[in-house]
Amino acid sequence: MDLKKLIADLEEKNPAQPLYIQAAKEVLETIVDFVNENPKYDKYAIVERILEPERILQFKVTWVDDSGKIQVNRGYRVQHNMAIGPYKGGIRFHKNVNQDTMKFLAFEQTFKNSLTTLPMGGGKGGSDFDPTGKSEGEVMRFCQSFMTELQKHIGPETDVPAGDIGVGAREVGFMFGQYKRIRGEHVGVLTGKGLNWGGSLIRPEATGFGSIYFLQGMLKAKNDTIAGKRVALSGFGNVAWGAALKLEELGAKVVCISGPDGYILDEDGIAGEKIVYMTELLATRNNVLAPYATKYPNAKFFAGKKPWEAKVDIAVPCAIQNELNKEDAEKLVANGCQYVVETSNMGCTADAITFLQSKKISFAPGKAANAGGVATSGLEMSQNSMKLSWTCEEVDEKLKGIMNNIHDNCVKYGTEKDGYINYVKGANIAGFIKVADAMIDQGVAY
Ligand code: GLU
Repeated sequence: MDLKKLIADLEEKNPAQPLYIQAAKEVLETIVDFVNENPKYDKYAIVERILEPERILQFKVTWVDDSGKIQVNRGYRVQHNMAIGPYKGGIRFHKNVNQDTMKFLAFEQTFKNSLTTLPMGGGKGGSDFDPTGKSEGEVMRFCQSFMTELQKHIGPETDVPAGDIGVGAREVGFMFGQYKRIRGEHVGVLTGKGLNWGGSLIRPEATGFGSIYFLQGMLKAKNDTIAGKRVALSGFGNVAWGAALKLEELGAKVVCISGPDGYILDEDGIAGEKIVYMTELLATRNNVLAPYATKYPNAKFFAGKKPWEAKVDIAVPCAIQNELNKEDAEKLVANGCQYVVETSNMGCTADAITFLQSKKISFAPGKAANAGGVATSGLEMSQNSMKLSWTCEEVDEKLKGIMNNIHDNCVKYGTEKDGYINYVKGANIAGFIKVADAMIDQGVAY
């Protein structure tokens, strides 16, 4: 493959889509040697084909707010790649959602889902609807309107959405209800469902748990252990919550969490009832973390700042894309941080990753570290198909196995001559192989 030409074409074909270009470029740069060693991929133009989403849907979502005013939003579903299974990926409600966001997330999802080893293709959906401060009725009417259009394009064997930023159990419930109302079917068309109507145990915790299981692999690879480590998390949503629970269980000390308004430094550790309080703050849907410092006066709140300036051993970005830039990475390294576990999708900028790798920091990309969420969605789909439910222990065991396997694959394809594990390269190659080989097997069909 001609890397220079592919990147030039990518930039020309996707004007004003910096996120998609960033995500795709990273993959191209890390798989180039592998692809050139295996000429079959060029013969079947796999790289060119994987760069093009199979389908991009954009639709209008109109709804009536509590004051009676008509609101208009945009809805999206990017069906990126179906080679190894039905499209699978979350739905994001966030004011910054646009086609670029959806395309980069769907692209990442294809590689991530492949890494899980479960039969799931890649997709992503969402809307520029901003849930902050919206009433329950407004959220429900929005979800119903959104699903009225989306249901034309999804189904348990074609495309199975789930949650993401701004979409939790409540929103999944509203969307499921509308799908069921229109189609007259109670099927596994969404994951992240409520436990008594088809959901899976451990799904809420899975992204955070999975990321910490992955971190355990990173520590083990360096003959290190988790107990006593100081950890900074960003965000205070579902992902940070799951990570905080697992970190506490394993004896690490979470000292930071963050919100759009700033970050909390709590030297007493964020554990126990404080993790429960995080969920209460989230449930207010005001998107502010400052009240934490009022409730726990020993904690300090740094308005408008990011947690990467704190002294920690491990940083776990759990919020949103490009939340950790080169300057942040420099501060982390200067303070002795040894591990960065990207748990948000593309949470670090490209130059932050280059810097961390140049300092031989152990860095895990989101598509590997956060794959536990969608993996457990895959397990939810299996349970739905069998019309059975597994216990907590069964799901958790499978999740652990999947995360260990992803770690092993990263080591297999990403270990460099000096022994440094380039997890970005390892994840991209391992994720690519399964999708690419399936595409070859299936002929020129996308
Ligand atoms: N939104 C999550 C992700 O980025 C989960 C997707 C899913 O469960 O389908 O992987």
